[in-house]
Parts: sequence; C-alpha cells; structure tokens
Amino acid sequence: MQEKASPKLAVSGLKVYYFTDGGTLRAVDGVNFQILGNESLGIVGESACGKSTLGASLMRSLQFPGRIVEGSMVLDNRDLSKMPSKEFDGSVRWKRIAMVFQGAMNVLDPVYTIGSQLREILHEHEFQGDIARKISESLKSVGLDDSVAKRYPHELSGGMKQRVVIAMALLMDPELLIADEPTTALDVLVQSQIIDLLKKLRQEKGISVILITHDLAIVSQIADSIAIMYAGQLVEMGSAQEVYRDPKHPYTQALIAAVPKLRSSEKEIHFVAGRPPSLINPPEGCRFYDRCPHAMDICRKNPPAFERKTGYVHCWLYEKKSET
Ligand code: SF4
Repeated sequence: MQEKASPKLAVSGLKVYYFTDGGTLRAVDGVNFQILGNESLGIVGESACGKSTLGASLMRSLQFPGRIVEGSMVLDNRDLSKMPSKEFDGSVRWKRIAMVFQGAMNVLDPVYTIGSQLREILHEHEFQGDIARKISESLKSVGLDDSVAKRYPHELSGGMKQRVVIAMALLMDPELLIADEPTTALDVLVQSQIIDLLKKLRQEKGISVILITHDLAIVSQIADSIAIMYAGQLVEMGSAQEVYRDPKHPYTQALIAAVPKLRSSEKEIHFVAGRPPSLINPPEGCRFYDRCPHAMDICRKNPPAFERKTGYVHCWLYEKKSET
C-alpha cells in the first residue's frame, strides 16, 4: 500500500443552516464524528436528512443561502470552517479533500472530450508534471482504458462516466474522498463494480472515504464505521459491524429491517412509516418521536445523547445502559 499522510478529521458540533424566506432550515444541526487514519465512514439516511449538505460543508461548497453557523471541522489541527477561502482553495480543496457530487456524471461537458476535461482540471491546479501521462494513469487507476481520453461523454456508459468523475476527483491525489450517492442511477451490477473500485482505491492509494448514501446495504460493503443521519442529526454511530449487527436506535433498526433479505422466507416488505419532521421547526426533543414505536414522555422535550462501545446512540432507551 502506498504510504500517505493520515487525514485526521474531527467534526464537532457542526451546524449548517439555510436562511430562506420561509424560515431557517437546520439542515445539519449539531453533528459530531471523527475519521482516523484511512478509515472509511458511511453516512446513511433518507432523502433531505442533511447528508449531502454535510458533505458539501466539508468541501466548503455550500449553495446559497446555506452557511456554517457553528462548530468545527478540524483537519490536522486546522479548523477548515475558519480557514481563509484562498488558503482552503489553494491547499485543501481537491488537494487534500475531494468530492464526487451527487449526479456529477451527468454534468460532464458534452462538447469536450474526457481528456480535455481532465486536462483543464490539471491546468487549473497548476499541475507541474507530464499531463498526458497523468491523464493516462488516472483513467487506468479507475479501470478505464486510456483511449477513453479521446471520447466524448455521450460515448460512455453510466458506469464509465461515474469512473471518469471519480478519476477527476482523484487527479490531485487527495487523502480524503467524499462520494455522495455514487451508485444512484446505476444498475445493480455496475453499483457493485463502483463499490469494488472505491475499495481498491482505498487499498492502493491509502485514502479515506466518506460514502454518503441512502442505501445501508451498499455502505455495509465498504465502511469501517457507519453514522445514521436523521432530520439533520447523527442519531447513531459505531463500527460497521456493531451498527449493522446490533443496531440500537429505533430508526437504525427500522432501516435495517427495510433492507430486503434474499435468503429470508419472510414475504413482508418493511418500511419506516410516517414522515421526517420539518427542519424549519424541528421538535425540541428526539426528532424521531412521531415515528418511533418506543416513544416515551421524556423523548418529547429532551434531546438524548449517550455513548456506546464504538460510538454513540442518541436515544433515551439507552439512558442507563452505557457500554463504555
Ligand atoms: Fe424513540 Fe425516544 Fe429513542 Fe427517540 S429517544 S428514538 S422517541 S425511544
């Protein structure tokens, strides 16, 4: 494995709000997690729970009217949220942290070849080496023939385009790759190939990966740790094995029950009944209260937070059962 500096990312009390005419939308509301070494973290949650906003915050690529209002994102003792924009653009964005944005494969420029688009990125970042060789190596590293550089996006399949956008994100050799729903809109076989590719890149390049997805089954194939996001907050986090095999939070339990099991004789399809709360006026206490089959009086007004063996679970059911 290629030796690289270990990213140590610590996100603490992060709050990211959108200031809209309809009110303040608390998309990310007090999120904590850490990544050590070249760990991979899966952030799982349903649509509009704030997970893409969380990824965009780490890249400082929030869309207006979104803004980081509180908390820190510390990479090697520097808080990225406070770093001057010029310094972040010059030394962190794409060089230390890169992101494959959701749907990125659909925004490849149709009138330029793949090679031209890769070359433009290298020029923009003032790459000093042999550009043709770098492009060829990048395409090969994601399992594409270097002849793809001469082709236009419409000549590629969905899986090939997704490999190209991953190659683009890795052009400047970042230590941390954030992949937001990288398998959405791909068929199941190609999904599995993209996950295998991310695993291979982790091993060969020693990079950390944050995989943002709604698909718990996919995340279980690659993540060392899993964080479950609900209504702007991480409600449970721990090692992938612990969260998947012994989910504590009722929302995590419901998500896992909803994953279809091929070998099970059970015919019933489970789903999480109800809808998430508004993030403009979220509940004071547990945000899962209205959908939770175990809701208690204490849950209504008081936000819960408890440690567990390899992470935490934010649920009052575990008030007296700390595993630490
Ligand atoms: Fe359910 Fe209460 Fe736990 Fe929330 S804190 S998930 S409402 S039991």
